[in-house]
Amino acid sequence: MDIYRAGQRATLKGNPDWFTGTVWQDAIIDTPEPARGRAVVVSFEPGARTNWHTHPLGQTLFVLSGVGRVQKHGEPVRAIRPGDTVWIAPGEKHWHGAGPETRMVHVAFHEAIDGSHVEWLEPVDDSDYRAEPAD
Ligand code: MN
Repeated sequence: MDIYRAGQRATLKGNPDWFTGTVWQDAIIDTPEPARGRAVVVSFEPGARTNWHTHPLGQTLFVLSGVGRVQKHGEPVRAIRPGDTVWIAPGEKHWHGAGPETRMVHVAFHEAIDGSHVEWLEPVDDSDYRAEPAD
């Protein structure tokens, strides 16, 4: 058994190659083999979001605070709020992030295959990001 104490691992800043705006990442766990689960708390400042991307084995998001947005490619932007769970299917192109004027914090869970848990794509255009959410 391992216990990772609060404050033991530094908060990491999201890589600007993969994120627009300011994003902070706090590790929950990166499980050792043969387990392959990973979990992280991600804090998006207002206007911040991921690039478009896919997950080879899918991803679950659980919103902790704030109001954010998520979009599956080809579908409307959706609002996400504390207590919401989002399942993103394997290979589904999508993005997630804060609202334009509101921060958002979520837990992200995903599994790695062949050492990979995400494939990064292009940034989300402002016009796509700022579309009025469907709900
Ligand atoms: Mn994702």
